[in-house]
Parts: sequence; structure tokens; C-alpha cells
Amino acid sequence: MLGVQGSSSNSLSLSFISVNSNKTDVWNHHRRLGHLSFKTLRNMFPSLFKNLDVEQFHCEICEFAKHHRVPFPISDSRSVSPFTIIHSDIWGPYNIPNISGAKGFVTFIDDCTRMTWVYLLKRKSDVSHILPNFTNMIRNQFGVSIKGFRTDNARDYFNQILSSYFEKEGIIHQSSCVNTPQQNGLAERKNRHLLETTRALLFQHQVPKNYWGEAVLTSTYLINRIPSRVIGFKSPLNYLSEFFSKNNFYFKIPPRIFGCVTYVHIHKHQRDKLDARALKCVFIRYSITQKGYKCYYPSSKRFLVSKDVSFNENQSFFNKSSLQGEENNTEDKTNNDFDDFDIFSFQIPSRQQSSPIISPSCESPNITLQGETTVDRPLQVYRRRIQPDLTLLQAQETEPEQGNELSHSSLPIPDLYQPIAIRKGRKECTKSPLYPITNFMSFQKFSPSHKAFLSKINTIPIPKTLYEALRNEN
Ligand SMILES: [Zn+2]
Repeated sequence: MLGVQGSSSNSLSLSFISVNSNKTDVWNHHRRLGHLSFKTLRNMFPSLFKNLDVEQFHCEICEFAKHHRVPFPISDSRSVSPFTIIHSDIWGPYNIPNISGAKGFVTFIDDCTRMTWVYLLKRKSDVSHILPNFTNMIRNQFGVSIKGFRTDNARDYFNQILSSYFEKEGIIHQSSCVNTPQQNGLAERKNRHLLETTRALLFQHQVPKNYWGEAVLTSTYLINRIPSRVIGFKSPLNYLSEFFSKNNFYFKIPPRIFGCVTYVHIHKHQRDKLDARALKCVFIRYSITQKGYKCYYPSSKRFLVSKDVSFNENQSFFNKSSLQGEENNTEDKTNNDFDDFDIFSFQIPSRQQSSPIISPSCESPNITLQGETTVDRPLQVYRRRIQPDLTLLQAQETEPEQGNELSHSSLPIPDLYQPIAIRKGRKECTKSPLYPITNFMSFQKFSPSHKAFLSKINTIPIPKTLYEALRNEN
């Protein structure tokens, strides 16, 4: 009897573990694929959702990254063959340059397959040579000439160089009417999708904002490989390959979580026998030109592409308590200089910050799931030092991004918002100095007359105002 009970409870616990490991898999896929929606994830991997309801998954990162989504009018009409029309849009300049120095990007989206190419821009005028290079690449790789570009009314496409280029190549350039960017809706929607995914990637592992360009390129890579409703739930890359089946030059490597810790193998000729065999880096994107992961070593500002990489996907590289003592030296220290709304900024309500974050590795399975629905670590919040308006502050606590409904509860201002001098108090060293000046200076070796002179100096009052100075006859 006991044996039967035991086996029954074992099978119950086994099924419990299997459901929970399924959930963990769902969360890992969600994070690796740039916080892809759970419904799309279920379409891609139905087996992952065995005995699981898609409605039970709720991701806070997605809330912060994709909230306020206003639907654009969607038109499903498409070209029948690739590269008939390319939609293009320029984004930027962004206040904070990417680690590569880029300040914006340009998108090229094929109307037929929705395949997207993104190029980072240091200045808008870079489009003048990037666009011709792009058309050459398409012609060379796919043997097709682009028939037309559709852009908004941005002057960047109407400069002298591009106008004469379009004319020479016989490319028709269609543009939207003045002040009606909706006519370039596909490119606008794609930019929105890219930025939503970019924010999710940055928030996931607290990646500093000066990595936004790498996150945008990673988002593009992922979106091209994720099924889209508009093209019959095929991925743009798969759909493109149906037209060009011989072009099989896109590498297939498993996705990993952006911003996590990676250990890149150091090859024999780069080390001696007692040197470390791996370099701790941050995973920042997928290489298009080499079959490997692109990693970055901030201390020497080096990019490394390697297949010999091991990942710790649950650990953010930008964690000050990391084992190697890596300082977050590339962290954006200029955040407070920007008063404008910042699309890569976000704030977590302070109550959530103070709540403990449960680590998946040390808790029971059901608690792990709660941990999974929250962020792995408290997310870093930047604030200006000015004393905020209390009412507004409370509104932010209740509605992080809306702020419409003001709360009238009388919550005390958290310590975080006090001026730094009050929060930190006096420094310890000023109470009992480590190196008192008397250890280094002494009057002992002065002659008596010199001592008298010095003590006389101390007795002379120093006027603090003009009035005192005029009254002082000395
Ligand atoms: Zn998410």
C-alpha cells in the first residue's frame, strides 16, 4: 500500500517537474527570441506548450518594453515578387551613441517577403552610400534589381546624390505626402517592432543604453527568423528562401539571451600555458559574415566572433557583483543630462524594487515560476537628483508609464529620493580621520619667536563682510 502511494506521489511529482521544466523552456525561448509574444511562440513550438495555457504567461519586461502600443492601420497587400518595392525609413539621431559610434539607423524592408536589413548610421548623410551599396548587394546576391523605394518625405532621400543615383539606375522613388508618415506605414510599423524588441533586449539583462545599436541589429536578426501573420506565419527568411532556394548563405546558430555573460575561448597561440583559457565577455549579437556569436570585451573595446563560446544566460554581464569584478565601465553616465523623453528609459515602481527577487536556482519549482515572471535582478533606475513632486512620484509608483490617475495616498518619500548628502550622512572618515594632519605637521621644531608669530596670526580676526573689513583698523 505504501509502495503504491509512494509510486503515485512520485509520478505526481514527476509530472509536476515536467510541467515546470516546460514552463522554464517557454521562458528561455521567450527571452532568447527577443521577448517574442507567447502566442507566436506557441505557433512556432506547439510541443513546448503541452498542458500549458498561453494565458498564464505574463512578462513584466514586455510590459515595460511594449506598453502603449497603438495599432497602425494595417494593409495586407503585398508585392508578388521580392525586391519590387523596398520600404525604407531613417531613425535617429539618438542622444547616446552606440558603442560603435552610431547615432541612428536606416531600415530596408522588402514589401513581398518582409525581410529586413538594418544599417547603423553615424550621420544621416551615410544613407547616400549605404543605399547604393544595399542595391548592389541585392543585385549581386539575388540577381534582381530593385524596382522602387518607398520612403517618407525625409529630405535625406532627396539629396542630390541619391536623386541622381535613382535616376541613373532607373529606380522609382515614391514618397509619402508632407506630414503624413502613415503612408509609409510598413516602415513605421517595422521601426516600432524593432524598438519594442530592442527595449526588451536591453531591459532583460540591464544592458546599458550605449549598446542600443547592437540590440537593434539583434532584434532585426530575430524578427527575420520569426513567423509573421502577414506572410502566412512564415518567417521572412524562410519566405525569401522560397524564391531563392539556391541562396543558402544565412547561418543557422541557436539563439541566446542578449547581454548575458559569455566565455570566449582563447586559442593556444594567444596564450601561454598558465594563462586563462577564456575571456569573459558580453554576448551582443549574431554575426552575419561568420558562423559564430559576436561578443564584446568592454575593457579593451574589442569585438570577438567565435563559435567556441560558453554562455551563462541567467547572468547579466552588467552586474557589479560579477565574479571577475568587471566594472560596468561602459555604463551610460550621461543619462541625467537628457531631459527629453527617452525611448530606452524605463522606471520600475519603487515598491517592486524593494521586493525580494527569487532566484530560480535556489527555490522550489512553483516558486521558480514566480521568479521567472519577474526580472532576474532589480533593474537599475536612473533619476535626476532634483526633489520630485510628491503627487507625480506616487502616480509613477502606481502607473509606471501612464501617470494619468493620481494617487492621493500619503506615502512617505522613499529614501532614494532624498538628496544624496542627507541619504549618506557624514562620511565615516570625517568623524575619525584615518590620517590626522597632526601626524604630519608639528610646531615643535619652530623657534620660540616663530611660534609666537604663528600664534599671533591665529588671533587676528578675518573680516567676513566689507563692513567688518572697513571697521577693522588692523
Ligand atoms: Zn517578455
